[in-house]
Amino acid sequence: MRPELLHDGHGRRISDLRVSVTDRCNFRCQYCMPAEGLAWLERSELLSFEEIERLVTLFASLGVTDLRLTGGEPLVRRDFPRLVAMLAQVEGLDDLSLTTNGFLLERDAEALVAAGIGRVNVSIDSLQRDSFFELTRRDALPQVLRGLEALARHPEVHPVKVNAVAMRGFTEDEAVPFAEFARSSAFQVRFIEFMPLDADRNWSPDAVLAGDELRAIIDAVHPLEEVPREAHSTARIFRFRDGRGEIGFINPVSEPFCGDCNRIRLTAEGKLRTCLFSLHETDLREPLRAGASDAELERIVREAVWQKELKHQVNEPGFRQPARSMSAIGG
Ligand code: SAM
Ligand code: SF4
Repeated sequence: MRPELLHDGHGRRISDLRVSVTDRCNFRCQYCMPAEGLAWLERSELLSFEEIERLVTLFASLGVTDLRLTGGEPLVRRDFPRLVAMLAQVEGLDDLSLTTNGFLLERDAEALVAAGIGRVNVSIDSLQRDSFFELTRRDALPQVLRGLEALARHPEVHPVKVNAVAMRGFTEDEAVPFAEFARSSAFQVRFIEFMPLDADRNWSPDAVLAGDELRAIIDAVHPLEEVPREAHSTARIFRFRDGRGEIGFINPVSEPFCGDCNRIRLTAEGKLRTCLFSLHETDLREPLRAGASDAELERIVREAVWQKELKHQVNEPGFRQPARSMSAIGG
């Protein structure tokens, strides 16, 4: 008999799991990591591929259908395509996707496709080389664009999304070039509002460039109309009125979408997080390594998920930024 599906205490069914496979990264994006000085996890602290596979299989048996692999930068984890191939076999998963900064995609696209990756999001914050360098602290835009092209040679990976973090004083100049990129390519472009998950703690409400503001900048040049929102979608999608493609806005700060959130996260060292902004985590690695049965792990997972936060408190007085930054949580 199929076990009861995973629900939280607010009546939301949990069907989307994000697994971070490493806390390490080859970039140092300003809105995520410090320029230097972040301590890495020891290798023995990371969940092994077999441990990740066991937990993902358990989550899938509880009704998780969508799995996204992230980090840190997932492609810096040695032999990462082998993990993708293992997870592609897990029964019950409908959607296996990856979020990457794209730096190693030129090397890995083919192996990832052969392993069974279904969809890929590539993070690119600027289409201008110097601005890209400024934000990521790596002069890597040409390499990332080559990675994107390598992926585009595999039409079975679809859609390929390009995600840009929107920051005031930076992204205003990127809006129209990204719109033109979306209009002239098969890539789906999404802007994500800057969230208070940066290691440098420079976030402030004023640093957020709201999706609506960006949309107005684009709409003035290329008129847009909204496409009805799909359930659980984090993005508001607009199509260009002349029919040439679409563009999306993920607005977690200005328009929180916690009400129908179906997501949970597993960090690289096996901590279950029920919200990006959780102040509390549940360790799964310790019981896993102590020989817990699936039934025991399931009980721990159900209890943690039941406590899932109703909503994030970013816009409320007294909001506390989590101790971990985005790269250590798994965005
Ligand atoms: N390294 C990979 C990458 O950059 O795509 C995967 C991990 S990264 C933490 C996942 C996503 O989180 C990226 O799209 C990144 O731009 C986004 N991100 C990181 N810090 C953020 C922040 N403070 N606010 C909004 N998005 C952020
Ligand atoms: Fe690395 Fe991704 Fe964070 Fe940039 S956003 S520092 S690429 S983990």
